[in-house]
Amino acid sequence: MSFLRTKIEKLPLIGPAYVKKLHRIGIKTAGDLLFYFPFRYDDFSDVKKISEVELGEVVSVQGKIIEIKNIRSWKRKMNITEALIEDETSAIKAVWFNQPFLVRNLKKGANVSLSGKVVYAQEGLQLSNPSYELLGSGQSLHTARLVPVYHETQGLSSKWLRAHIKPVIKFADEIEEFLPASIIKDQNLFSYSKAVKQIHFPDSEEKARDAKRRLAFDELFLVQLYMMLQKKKWQENKSVRINFNKKLKKEIKDFVDNLPFELTDAQRISSWNIIKDFENNRPMNRLLEGDVGSGKTLVALISALVVIKSGYQVAFMAPTEILARQHFKEAVRRFEKKHTPSPSQEGNIKMKRNIKNPLLRGVGVCKIALLTGSESKIYEDGEVKEISKKKLLEKIEKGEINFIIGTHSLIQEKIVFKNLAFSIVDEQHRFGIDQRAKIQTEVLKVKDGLKTVPHLLSMTATPIPRTLALTVYGDLDLSILDEMPKGRRKIITKLVAPANRDLAYDFIRDQIKKGRQVFVICPLIEESDVLEVRSATEEYEKLSKNIYSDFSVGLLHGKMKSKEKEEVMQKFIKKKIDILVSTSVIEVGIDIPNASIMLVEGSDRFGLAQLHQFRGRVGRGEYQSFCFLFTDSTSATTARRLKALIKSNNGFELAEQDLKIRGPGELVGVRQSGLPDLAMASLSDSQLIKNTREEAGKLIDTDHKLSKYPKLAEKLKKFTKEVHFE
Ligand code: ADP
Ligand code: MG
Repeated sequence: MSFLRTKIEKLPLIGPAYVKKLHRIGIKTAGDLLFYFPFRYDDFSDVKKISEVELGEVVSVQGKIIEIKNIRSWKRKMNITEALIEDETSAIKAVWFNQPFLVRNLKKGANVSLSGKVVYAQEGLQLSNPSYELLGSGQSLHTARLVPVYHETQGLSSKWLRAHIKPVIKFADEIEEFLPASIIKDQNLFSYSKAVKQIHFPDSEEKARDAKRRLAFDELFLVQLYMMLQKKKWQENKSVRINFNKKLKKEIKDFVDNLPFELTDAQRISSWNIIKDFENNRPMNRLLEGDVGSGKTLVALISALVVIKSGYQVAFMAPTEILARQHFKEAVRRFEKKHTPSPSQEGNIKMKRNIKNPLLRGVGVCKIALLTGSESKIYEDGEVKEISKKKLLEKIEKGEINFIIGTHSLIQEKIVFKNLAFSIVDEQHRFGIDQRAKIQTEVLKVKDGLKTVPHLLSMTATPIPRTLALTVYGDLDLSILDEMPKGRRKIITKLVAPANRDLAYDFIRDQIKKGRQVFVICPLIEESDVLEVRSATEEYEKLSKNIYSDFSVGLLHGKMKSKEKEEVMQKFIKKKIDILVSTSVIEVGIDIPNASIMLVEGSDRFGLAQLHQFRGRVGRGEYQSFCFLFTDSTSATTARRLKALIKSNNGFELAEQDLKIRGPGELVGVRQSGLPDLAMASLSDSQLIKNTREEAGKLIDTDHKLSKYPKLAEKLKKFTKEVHFE
């Protein structure tokens, strides 16, 4: 490994300025340089005699410079370098723009190789702005082959990188293999060193593909291995085993029977998955994925009830105060109050009332608390009361509260639980890696010497296709709510052409007059938060001053403090705001039944799954709801893409389409996963995912300590340090 560790400043022809640039992108050694991979190739492999070149093609030719000169074009205000190149068959002109220094390198009489596009000019065919190099001793580098193209940052050009990677590429032979030989054989992979060599300077397209496949295999395999090992480690803990006995079964059945609606099959199955997990004394670690409005909260409540009824505590954490409050209300409503039965259940209920249905005493034993940064409340004896934080913490420690709902406060306040057996995290992607780790460890400081960790249920509304989820969340088991509750009105989705903007505004005005509320989402501006905030502010000004000056308009964006955000949301919930203009930050889980219009500006800039999530914020109440997609883009692909939203109302389907059209990096939830580039780019390759998963699984089953594969163990350690999994 000695050469690979050579500092770049010791390499020939890398001056201090370049050392600095390379350091800035984390390249410190010759080895690092070798692992800076190209992201695509220019295919200049079509080498032809000059007499054979044809208009429009990208070719490489080689010959002698007969003549070369700079011309100043006054009309076009630029410098043009013209050269005439000749081989044994013919001659062709090459033209470069604004590169007058070329004449210093390319001199009359020199032999050169040129690659570029053949265009037509006054005097016939010519090469426009071709890549060039002098034909000398070695192999060509910038022409006449598959030429690697690197991400150019910090003033490092592809050309510079090529020229400096080439002389060290032979040292790739020193790269040690870390994959078990059996995997390399079974999966038909390049060796590690061959892959690194071929990814830079491939002999053919096929070899480039194989090199990429090997390196992507590595990343995906290591990710899976890491996830599976995490899972295994987590499962070495003990959790409370909850016996789903007859009595418990009946209580849960009563609860479900008395809901004012039927559970969806998906809700039933997911609840059942969870109940089955509880029967193990190994901790559950399950992800519940489901579209906005698919009823995840209820699954959380049912599973919470199972645990509470068994005599243990449950914690439920949400990313914002508003959501925590919403969950608290919902828990109170479902657990303590008598439900309003649906008509078909009327008869049933009456009969049960006579036999003293335990449900009608409420879930009874359940005391629920709300704990956020700004409030602490408790629900007992049929009412919600304020309580001091101190008192609340005491009650939790004594076990007088069974169900604690809150925000990050749950992990920030040093809560001591009496017997916490189950933690739920809503909108899990909103929490950082540290926070999630804390839920798994710190919240576990449980009194009474209970040496267990709580079962863990995470929930998310970002629908990630199953194969993807298995990689990104490979340490979790998965339940999916892929079905909406019955009787939901379909949201009417319309693409609004610029010419119809006023019509849409009029329609919205009517709706507001009828008492409805409106969300307006401003275009996503990837490069700049500041620009995004500015555009939202401008939209807000426009709507509040010009278009809807007679209504109350509010503004919400990511640069506001979370307290300000909460205040604006609170005003919207209380109907003090009719139209809420926001950047894409606004809360997914929020339930505002009175909002019936979602208007998205610049809708072509969003992924389908994300647009679908925006849409899910309306249509939660009894009113017919609408989603208006505004776009200035006139391209047919945009229209086709957006029309998919009109057709499909299924977040998973739309996510699959995003995956196909825009690639995995565009899926919310995947982008935040912290996966390395090649793994990310390969997430749409379900076969590769399957293969890596199988190999990782086999390895864990036979040798999860990796004791037979020290090189792999070392590599994995390094990999997990470099990659920051969320
Ligand atoms: P999400 O999955 O987005 O968190 P929620 O849990 O907030 O969705 O549920 C959305 C709404 O649907 C809530 O008002 C909830 O009471 C209601 N709901 C949940 N399950 C059903 C069902 N099976 N039938 C009808 N309504 C339901
Ligand atoms: Mg929710």
